Amino acid sequence: MHKAVFLDRDGTVIEECNYLKDPEQVKLFPGAAQAVKLLKEKGFLTVIVTNQSGIARGYFDIHTLQQVHAKMNLLLAVDGVAVDSIYYCPHYPGGIIAPFNIDCDCRKPQIGLALQAQKEFDIDLNHSYMIGDKEVDVDFGKNFGAKAAILVATGYGKNNPHTNADYRAKDLLDAATWILKNEL
Ligand SMILES: [Mg+2]
Ligand SMILES: [Zn+2]
Repeated sequence: MHKAVFLDRDGTVIEECNYLKDPEQVKLFPGAAQAVKLLKEKGFLTVIVTNQSGIARGYFDIHTLQQVHAKMNLLLAVDGVAVDSIYYCPHYPGGIIAPFNIDCDCRKPQIGLALQAQKEFDIDLNHSYMIGDKEVDVDFGKNFGAKAAILVATGYGKNNPHTNADYRAKDLLDAATWILKNEL
């Protein structure tokens, strides 16, 4: 079995842009690539889990989402790293684009995306971690039984004084460093 660190995308790995749809706007946070590198060296899979309700809402389509992910992967590759996979939830019950305007089981904090990754990579969720910038990310980690859920103070995490997170990190690199210490 593998252990994984699940990473939220917007506000955690790349800068938060409201309903990001332009690959040109993809910007890695400083230290984000280094964080992925450290986690992989420690034997963790790195898996991005992202709510992308902009698809159900009709703001952008899956092709555009894939272009955004290609840009993110390119920027990571320039820094010599790669995430193992990206899982996204395109759904939102109040959306307008069928078949995505449904009440699904993969919109965080529900754990569908973690279960998809678990199935594909044989992941031990109880020995895995979650890092994100919103409380839904912390709740997602708690819901799938993460060893710890970490809130970063980037993106929306800047304005969240109350959190159930096990650790409040400055950014993704700080979160990764904390995980490595926690694994000693
Ligand atoms: Mg986020
Ligand atoms: Zn979904």
